[in-house]
Amino acid sequence: MNWFKLLSRRQILWGAGGLLLALVLVLTGLALDDDDDGPVPATFTTKMSLKDTAMALGSTGKAVARELGLPLDAPKGAPLESLGVTEEQLAKTIHHLLGHRDSTLKYWLYAALSVWGFVFLVRIGRPDAAGKKGKRRIWYPRRIYTAALLTSVIGAGFVLGKSPNPMEGAVKIFKTMAGLYPDPVAKVLAFLFFLGLAILGNKLICGWGCPFGALQELLHSLPILKKQKRKAKPPFRIMNGIRAALFVAVLLVLFGVLGGRKGLVLYHYVNPFNLFNFEPESISVLITIIASLVLGLVIYRPFCQVICPFGFLSWIAERVSIYRVRIDPDLCDDCGACSLACPSDAAKGLVKRDPLRADCFSCAKCLSACPTDAIRYESVFRTRSRSASSGDRLSSPEPGGTAHRMRP
Ligand code: SF4
Ligand code: SF4
Repeated sequence: MNWFKLLSRRQILWGAGGLLLALVLVLTGLALDDDDDGPVPATFTTKMSLKDTAMALGSTGKAVARELGLPLDAPKGAPLESLGVTEEQLAKTIHHLLGHRDSTLKYWLYAALSVWGFVFLVRIGRPDAAGKKGKRRIWYPRRIYTAALLTSVIGAGFVLGKSPNPMEGAVKIFKTMAGLYPDPVAKVLAFLFFLGLAILGNKLICGWGCPFGALQELLHSLPILKKQKRKAKPPFRIMNGIRAALFVAVLLVLFGVLGGRKGLVLYHYVNPFNLFNFEPESISVLITIIASLVLGLVIYRPFCQVICPFGFLSWIAERVSIYRVRIDPDLCDDCGACSLACPSDAAKGLVKRDPLRADCFSCAKCLSACPTDAIRYESVFRTRSRSASSGDRLSSPEPGGTAHRMRP
C-alpha cells in the first residue's frame, strides 16, 4: 500500500503502538469480562414481588413496574399476580431487562476503537513522506476506517449485543434521576466514559466506536451511491431542531411533566440498537431501524443527526473537544473542496465559522480534500502554539474554535 510505504519510522512506531494498545485493551476486557452479572433466578414467577424481581435483576422496583405497565407507585412488596401481572407479561419483561445488561467487554472494545481512530487521525493518516500536492489522494486511507467500522458493527454490535452503547449511556443518566436505576454512580461513570471519548477527539466514539453509527456510515459509503450528487444534505438546523425538541420532550415525559406517565422513556420506541440483539421489540423500533438504514444510503447518519440523544449531547460537547478538524483561515481560499468531500454540512460550517454547525464525526473525508493544505486534525492547543511560535498573533472565537490569524 503506497500510504504505508510513505509512513516515517516515527509514524510506524505510532501505528504499531496504537494497534498494540488497542489489542491490550481488548485482551484486558476479555480477561475482566464477567458474564455473571449477579444472581438471576432460573425462573421468575408472578408469586415474586416487584422488590424481589428488581433485586434479582439488579434493577429497581420502579423500573420493573414501568416495564410491566404498572404505576410507578405500585406496592413493591405485593406478589405480582395480585397486581394482575401474567406469567407471559413477566417473561417478556425479564427478557427485555436482561437484554439491557451491560457487557463490560464492550467498554474496552469502544476504548480500543477510539484509541485506534485517534492514532489514525492525529498521527498516521497523513504520511510524513508524502508531499502536500499530488499525494493527498493516499492520505487517510478509507480501507483502515472501513475496517474499524466493520469491527464496530460486528464486534461491538452483533457479537456483543446492544448494551452498553452511547445512546443508552445518555438515556440511563436521566432514567436514574427518575428512579429507574439503583446505581447512579455506575451510570454517571458510563456516561462520562462515552462523553470523555467524544471530547478527546470530536465525537470519536460516534465516528469510530458506535455500532449503529458505524452501520449508517458504511451504508452511506457504499460505492453504488458514491456520486456526491446522489447524496442529500438536508438542512442541519431542521434535523438538529427535531433532535433537540425530541430530547426535551423525552425528559418532560420521563419526569411526568407531560403525558402523566412518569417513568415512560420515549427513546425506547425508537431504539435501533435492538437490531444487535435481533429483537426489534416493537413495530416503531423496526420502522426506526429500517428508515435509518434506508435513508442512510443517501442522507448521512440520519438517526444520529435527527434522533440520538447522545448525538445531541455530544454535539454540544463538540465545543470543548480537544482534537478536531481545524481550518486555517489564512490558507483557506473558500474553494468548497472540503464541503464537497464532507458527507454532512460540518465542513461547510467549519469554513464559515458557524457556531451551530453540523456534527463532525471525525470521519476524515475532508482531511485529504484541501488543495491549499488548510485542514488538519489536531489539538486546539497545538494549533495555538504552532501559530504562536511562528510569531503570528491569534484570536480564537470559542475554546478550540477555528484558529484565526489577525492580519496586520
Ligand atoms: S449519534 Fe450516532 S454514532 Fe453517536 S451514539 Fe448516537 S447512534 Fe451512535
Ligand atoms: S468530512 Fe465532515 S464529518 Fe468528516 S471529519 Fe471532515 S468535517 Fe468532520
